[in-house]
Amino acid sequence: MPALKHPAEISSVELPARRAQVAGEADVLVVGGGPAGLGAALGAAAAGAQVILAERYSFFGGNATAALVMPLMSFHTQHPPAEFSAGVETLLPPDHGPGDPIVAGIVVKLLDRLIKAGGALAPSLQTGYVVPFDPELFKLVALELLDEAGVQFLLHAFASAVIGDGRVEGAVFETKSGPVVVRARAVIDCTGDGDVAAHAGAPFEVGRADDGLVQPMTLMFRMVEFEREAFAEYVRQHPREWRGVHGLWDLIRRASEAGELRLPREDMLFFATPHAREVSVNSTRVTGTLGTSVWDLSYAEWQSRLQMRQIVAFLRRYVPGFERAYLAQSGTSIGVRETRRILGDYQLTGDDVLAARKFDDVIARCSYPIDIHNPRGAGTLLQRLPPGEAYDIPLRCLLPKGVESLLVAGRCISGTHEAHSSYRVMPVAMALGQAAGVCAALAARRRVAPRAVPHREVQRELARQGADLRGVTRAA
Ligand SMILES: Cc1cc2nc3c(=O)[nH]c(=O)nc-3n(C[C@H](O)[C@H](O)[C@H](O)COP(=O)(O)OP(=O)(O)OC[C@H]3O[C@@H](n4cnc5c(N)ncnc54)[C@H](O)[C@@H]3O)c2cc1C
Repeated sequence: MPALKHPAEISSVELPARRAQVAGEADVLVVGGGPAGLGAALGAAAAGAQVILAERYSFFGGNATAALVMPLMSFHTQHPPAEFSAGVETLLPPDHGPGDPIVAGIVVKLLDRLIKAGGALAPSLQTGYVVPFDPELFKLVALELLDEAGVQFLLHAFASAVIGDGRVEGAVFETKSGPVVVRARAVIDCTGDGDVAAHAGAPFEVGRADDGLVQPMTLMFRMVEFEREAFAEYVRQHPREWRGVHGLWDLIRRASEAGELRLPREDMLFFATPHAREVSVNSTRVTGTLGTSVWDLSYAEWQSRLQMRQIVAFLRRYVPGFERAYLAQSGTSIGVRETRRILGDYQLTGDDVLAARKFDDVIARCSYPIDIHNPRGAGTLLQRLPPGEAYDIPLRCLLPKGVESLLVAGRCISGTHEAHSSYRVMPVAMALGQAAGVCAALAARRRVAPRAVPHREVQRELARQGADLRGVTRAA
């Protein structure tokens, strides 16, 4: 087995003490430049803070760019009623009604800019209310927005520790220049994995309540020279007979029985992109691995690439529309769905999601279903909200217990495994980031802890920045 395995017995060595250069100081430090980090940096800057954004890769976007996770999932009250995991919906004319957007603010600003650059399709009935986008243009637009907002950034910087005790005063980054420190009055953890909060000693949970298992990882890839019409015609000619079964799934079944496909996932999920002859494939699945273990990540990268090779060969050999298609790009990193969920002043639950619960301290909203890819193998659980409904996410979910001057945003906020499977989508991660950015900026300006900022003030500034909080600030 080429991937290094976690040793059965752990030995360790003491490292020498070291000094770090101070790379910069700011009102707000945002760690991680994915959807949440972009929202946080831009939200804090718009609220008047001086901001530094640090990212481990050489570009921004997080899963949207590094893991080629496409499209931006719907942020509207209606979702395709058909089995989502059947996955061809966004390549075919939709069979569901219109929805109302429930996320605004920075997401909309980014989308407008992407659409103008030819890098995204506006959400509509035709796209199934998702937003197909081009990840390379996403990287450029992110840089443009940060530049315009005056956000300073540090790339190639991996956060490995925090400074401060109980109150986070900054973070330590591993870089080519050796360890560096960025100091700030408030820090926002947008690493997806809650790395900073974990270093600061915040409590967290991992996985399902009964067995601790998390959602599987998926390596996404793009194929080009794909004939969308030929594929769509084939799917139309072989309609779904019962849940998720039509001609394509029959081909998958036969190839699996012949041993040409050996995949944990029973179906394939395709998404359109803004480019007519390109398709995004979300079909590899690696279970039993955790994205905060270097051994598991190594194993998962290896296994998912083996799966990708099988899928590409299968599509080219058997599936109309893919005859001349070829693999253009796979993710720089495998996509990690779920790791630490930091425990905050409130933990959002699956009941809150399905009941479309409302909270006084709402700072973002979500209408995406509970969507759990089976941590053990085949199957995906999907549970929708009542039609036309959305739930609130309270500010308290962004405030880690027992730690001051720190907020979390994005997929590592405080929620159960079930709730996490809903709010993890990128538009919502960005809205959570914007809220954390605003709260951190207000805290830094007043020299108080983020926890001491009244939620009404966060809501007022979010509303000023164009966020959609179901009109709650009008009542304030
Ligand atoms: C396979 C897959 C398919 C998905 N499909 C969709 C979809 O179709 N639509 C949708 O909307 N959502 C989808 N999601 C969910 C979505 O991509 C994520 O939940 C979302 O990106 C979370 O945003 P985030 O900013 O919290 O984290 P991330 O996107 O993970 O960003 C975290 C950022 O922090 C950086 N970082 C991490 N650790 C450190 C560190 N220690 N120091 C410095 N930087 C660090 C990372 O490099 C990254 O840039 C999917 C997820 C996966 C894995």
